[in-house]
Amino acid sequence: MSSPAVGVLALQGDVREHLHALSQVGACPLAIRRASELDDVDGLILPGGESTTVAKLARTFEVFEAVADRIKTGMPTFGTCAGMVLLADRLRDGAEGQETFGGLDITVRRNAFGRQVDSFESDVQFGIDDPAFDQPVHAVFIRAPWVEDLGEGVDVLAAVAVPGVGDRIVAVQQGPVMATSFHPEVSDDLRLHRYFLDLVTG
Ligand code: GLN
Repeated sequence: MSSPAVGVLALQGDVREHLHALSQVGACPLAIRRASELDDVDGLILPGGESTTVAKLARTFEVFEAVADRIKTGMPTFGTCAGMVLLADRLRDGAEGQETFGGLDITVRRNAFGRQVDSFESDVQFGIDDPAFDQPVHAVFIRAPWVEDLGEGVDVLAAVAVPGVGDRIVAVQQGPVMATSFHPEVSDDLRLHRYFLDLVTG
């Protein structure tokens, strides 16, 4: 089988890192800026960056509706950090009028970990039934969101213990759509990109 084509929404954020990770796991990576380019891909990554900026640029580039439609009609999609925000059906602490593509039946709080812990790193254990995930994932969080609430069809893949707060959900999956609060693309650990590629190839 030829390499599956996987897009990275390339409006803002750490696009290059995701393109690199995708090529490392054997996908054919494509930077996506226009609606017509979406026709060429079997899956899409929404990178980390600034969710308000990405949403506005998606409107400017007239790619917003096409992305939202493809997600709704079952395109495997992986959102990281700002990408998780963009996949959320419901937002807390969003900017005034902030739009999301939606697709995940979750409520996400933006910048949830607070100013004191603007960015941090943590070893996160995933509840994925695959020996590849026996060891935790070293996760880099940067002004990260967390998941506050989720619908019945959403699986929790990972949570972290937040001192003084309790466990908070940082990775979820609903069918072919998944999201992490952190940035797997900034580490050399390719397990989550591989896991996503498996969703793309079915
Ligand atoms: N706080 C950013 C947002 O809400 C996300 C930060 C990130 O992607 N590192 O879009």
